[in-house]
Amino acid sequence: MKTRYHARSPNTMSATKNATAPSGSAKLVDDPAVISENGKYYKNKQSSPKKTDAGYSVDDEVQPAVEIVWKNVLIYIYLHGAALYGFYLCFTAAKLATLLWAYVLVVFGEFGITAGAHRLWAHRCYKAKLPLRVFLAVGQTLALQNDIYVWSRDHRVHHKFSETNADPHNANRGFFFSHVGWLLCKKHPDVIRRGKTVDVNDLLQDPVVFYQRKFYLPLILITCVVMPTVVPWYYWGESLTTAFFVASIFRYVITLNVTWLVNSAAHMWGNHPYDKGINPAENRFVAFLSIGEGWHNYHHVFPWDYKASELGKFSINPTKAIIDFFAWLGLAYDLKSVPERIIRNRVQRTGDGTHPFALEDSPYAFDDMEFEEAQFCEIIPKEKGDKKL
Ligand SMILES: [Zn+2]
Ligand SMILES: [Zn+2]
Repeated sequence: MKTRYHARSPNTMSATKNATAPSGSAKLVDDPAVISENGKYYKNKQSSPKKTDAGYSVDDEVQPAVEIVWKNVLIYIYLHGAALYGFYLCFTAAKLATLLWAYVLVVFGEFGITAGAHRLWAHRCYKAKLPLRVFLAVGQTLALQNDIYVWSRDHRVHHKFSETNADPHNANRGFFFSHVGWLLCKKHPDVIRRGKTVDVNDLLQDPVVFYQRKFYLPLILITCVVMPTVVPWYYWGESLTTAFFVASIFRYVITLNVTWLVNSAAHMWGNHPYDKGINPAENRFVAFLSIGEGWHNYHHVFPWDYKASELGKFSINPTKAIIDFFAWLGLAYDLKSVPERIIRNRVQRTGDGTHPFALEDSPYAFDDMEFEEAQFCEIIPKEKGDKKL
């Protein structure tokens, strides 16, 4: 297994990318709870604690034998095979209106994930009034990536334990695992065990999240299968078969793979202008496909900025533009961002030198801003009564 340690965290800033984990306490995998919980899976390797990019110590190197969930394997093989057939139909049978319809649904589903599940619910980057929350929930249901509660919970765990065994799609296990493999096997026990330490109580307090979860099965059938198929058939006479394979299956598989690229490609390839000590990277290609979620080095450093990026030259970010539009309509408000001086300080102290700020002679590159900066590095913004995630 490729091992990349995050010896530096955004909050502690203390190491170098790919550096060896700090030596010292060699405890860890001898933890009896780990062994008794997972005795049949684990190899008990000696290791040292390491920190995630959220600054939490975790026990890595404890590798279970992968337990494949064959039902999921068959489902995803079918989906991708059927999507290939849908792709074929795009050129041989589908009407132009059906192609446009599928494209609109791809963008709507992606927006439900990026602006909804990700920036609104998982990170609370901004607030939204009920009509916008319902709109976002419809898009998120269309994208069919688990309900908002599960999606947001897994995502908070991903941030808190990034690229460790407790990360649901740990990119240190390779491109395939972080892209789709994590959905084809049982969760690593650390994901479940450590995931319980992440507070998600706020999520179900939103009735939109609560009722989407309660009626999830009928909602996905209507939103993800019936609606995409019936509209082209009813309104412009598309055949049901073509509508199903193009606007439902092919469209769905595209959305899935685009989202998965954020977990895989954006954790592997790109610059690290904000923190060279973590693997999430600024990936323009992923940002383009995912309507703005590829600026992943910034996002893992400053998770609750509603832009999920710094703009300027990193400006491929339609999700930000659409949130701004809804803010203009009065449906989105309290949009949260990071002051430029905090970004400058961070770039100059921990960036890889590829950011324009890194070239400036500035008074910001001092550690005395770390305390002030720390609040911007939390997974969600702190509000009155919140527990630390
Ligand atoms: Zn990530
Ligand atoms: Zn995130």
